[in-house]
Amino acid sequence: MSTEYVALSFFKTNKIDYYYKKPIITFPCPDCGKEAKMNAFEATWSCNACFARGTLVSLIKLTTSSHSGKLTESIYNPGKEILDIRRLLQEVKRSSSERNQKLIEKAYNKTNALYSYLKTEPE
Ligand SMILES: [Zn+2]
Repeated sequence: MSTEYVALSFFKTNKIDYYYKKPIITFPCPDCGKEAKMNAFEATWSCNACFARGTLVSLIKLTTSSHSGKLTESIYNPGKEILDIRRLLQEVKRSSSERNQKLIEKAYNKTNALYSYLKTEPE
């Protein structure tokens, strides 16, 4: 079993909000609730907001104790957000005049183009 698989399974089974962009798993920092990042192959993580750091083992210990910190908070997931934005724009488009439908279509395409552009940018 790879470290990557074990790490992803941990977040999934503990219902911790996360998203994965190989090799980085982004999840809520147990200390401050902001974005912490884990390298899925090394199973080490750190938080750029409060400088907390640890390993997958330290997270497992937290979730098995009664105080799991801020791991239950949610994080901003760009993949989920773009789906939400597309859905909202489609909804508005359906109930709009023909002229506004064209403008919304334009905004929809520009949003997709921007998302694709940002997605390929190195972090
Ligand atoms: Zn933190």
